[in-house]
Amino acid sequence: MAEEDVQAATPEPELAPYLLESARSSRSKCRTCRRKIDKDTLRLGILLEGPFGTGYLWHHLTCAARRRLEDVEAAYEQQAFADGLQVPPLAELQALKEKAEQARAERKELPYMERAPSGRSKCKNCGKAIDQDALRVVLAREVSFGNQVRATPINVHPECVHAELESEDCMTEVEGFEAQLRQNSTLESSVVDEAVAAIGVLEG
Ligand SMILES: [Zn+2]
Ligand SMILES: [Zn+2]
Repeated sequence: MAEEDVQAATPEPELAPYLLESARSSRSKCRTCRRKIDKDTLRLGILLEGPFGTGYLWHHLTCAARRRLEDVEAAYEQQAFADGLQVPPLAELQALKEKAEQARAERKELPYMERAPSGRSKCKNCGKAIDQDALRVVLAREVSFGNQVRATPINVHPECVHAELESEDCMTEVEGFEAQLRQNSTLESSVVDEAVAAIGVLEG
C-alpha cells in the first residue's frame, strides 16, 4: 500500500468523515479508477476506520462524482474543504454522473444491427469493406487478453452472419439470435426484416 494511501492515525483531534483537498503529492492512488492521483489534482478523502488505524481513502473528485456522488454531495454539505480550496460547483459534478450513466445505458447489447456510419469498417468474417449506410450486424467474438477472455463486438455483413456464427470463437449463440437481434436493434422493423432475410435461416 502506498505510503499516503491511508494516512496513519495520529493522536490528533478526530478526522472529519470527508476531506476534499488538492493532492499534496503524486503518491496517492484513486480507489475508483486505480490510477495515480497527480499532485495538485482535486481529491476526495473518505474516512476509513479500520483495524490498522483511521485514515482517508482517496478518489479523484471526478471519479467520485461518477461513481459515488452521494459521498461528494455529503462532502459539499459538510463543507469538508481544505482551507482556501477552490471547488467546482456541485452541479458540475452532478452533471458528470448523469453523463456517465447515459454512456452506460447507451452501451449496446449484442447482437444488434445498424447502418455503417462510414465506409471504413470491415467485415470480420470475409474481410471485405462494409459500405457506408449498408446494414451490418454486430456480434460478439471471443478475444483473449493475457489469460482473460472477453467478448469483443465485431461487425459482419448480414450475409456473413451464418458463417461467423458457426466459427469457433463466436460468442453469439445461434439459439434465440433472431429474437435478440430484433430486440436490440433500433432500426425500423421493415429494415430488420430485410436483413433477417439476407441472413437466412439459422435454426431448424
Ligand atoms: Zn480516479
Ligand atoms: Zn462479410
